[in-house]
Amino acid sequence: MKISTEPIGSIPRSPELIDAMGAYAAGNITAEEMNRLYNEATLSVIKRFEDTRSEVITDGEQTKSSFITYPIEGLTQLSSDGVVIPFADGHTRQLPQLTGGPFRYGKYAVEYLNNAKKLTAHPVKQAVISASAISLLYPANGIDNYTREQFISDLINESEKDIRQCLDAGAYNVQIDFTEARLAIKLDPSLQLLKMFIDLNNQVIDRFNEEERKRIGVHTCPGGDHDSTHSADIDYADLLPLLFQLHATNFYMEFAGEHDKNHVLEVIKYNLKPGQKVFIGVTDVLNPLIETPIEICELILLAAEYIPIEQLGTTDDCGFSPFADDRSTAQDIAFAKIKARMEGTRMAEAILNKAGMPA
Ligand SMILES: [Zn+2]
Repeated sequence: MKISTEPIGSIPRSPELIDAMGAYAAGNITAEEMNRLYNEATLSVIKRFEDTRSEVITDGEQTKSSFITYPIEGLTQLSSDGVVIPFADGHTRQLPQLTGGPFRYGKYAVEYLNNAKKLTAHPVKQAVISASAISLLYPANGIDNYTREQFISDLINESEKDIRQCLDAGAYNVQIDFTEARLAIKLDPSLQLLKMFIDLNNQVIDRFNEEERKRIGVHTCPGGDHDSTHSADIDYADLLPLLFQLHATNFYMEFAGEHDKNHVLEVIKYNLKPGQKVFIGVTDVLNPLIETPIEICELILLAAEYIPIEQLGTTDDCGFSPFADDRSTAQDIAFAKIKARMEGTRMAEAILNKAGMPA
């Protein structure tokens, strides 16, 4: 039996690319030159992915403004004073706020997918942002002539379109980035906010049939930005019973960065439903130390004591740089970790298959 292994999405941009993005924003290089650099960067990341012998790859999100903001690129009905996300190390990220309707995405993820598919013959996975994350753009005190109900209805349509376009364009699968799930418990310990998020995301997922839902997954993590997190102190025991109520098939979970791994595996075991598959993170994207394939193999063997092998896969804890300007992890470290994940997963697979063979 094969153990599936997939990346989350983002790969750190090179310092040269980040500098060029700054120069472009300042008007010092042309859009044509910027596009040429973006294409070069995407092609380079794809080649490096192929060199790790990864079967499923991504475009490394070299051109995404961030995992959360791409749908609002180019929109004009926005102000800058939206929800603030605080991280453990004291830094924050602030979202914009919607000032008018109707709400339509400025950019759909299929654009990234189509571009990547021109550059590789490998299966390409595409990450999209959750409807629940985008729902945070609607202001708490409402918008004149555009009710929250109208906004949510538009948002569900747009989020469905974002996913469906990727499935139709031949994405290997689609991963909904739901990094605000664990954060929601921190913001509202009564769990009402998380329940609302899950209900909203299920309204999107329910628009897909059973076959399509097999290619839909969800990523959860405590946030990863500048080597810091926003909700690592929230116990998976609070999150997972609700998370596994999502009608998605694949669940990509931060795991390598967890302190009490047996506890997490126990919680997965009691909450994972038939037909669901959990991809555990085996590389800690916030720690520059590169895991060895043997360490990763041991982690998988431990997980296999709790999770049936046909429902177990591996991934990285998070994207390596979900925000475009994060320079905290070098591209070389990211690919060394991905290579270790590939080798460790194959190693564990060989051991588990041998153990499962009749004597
Ligand atoms: Zn993440």
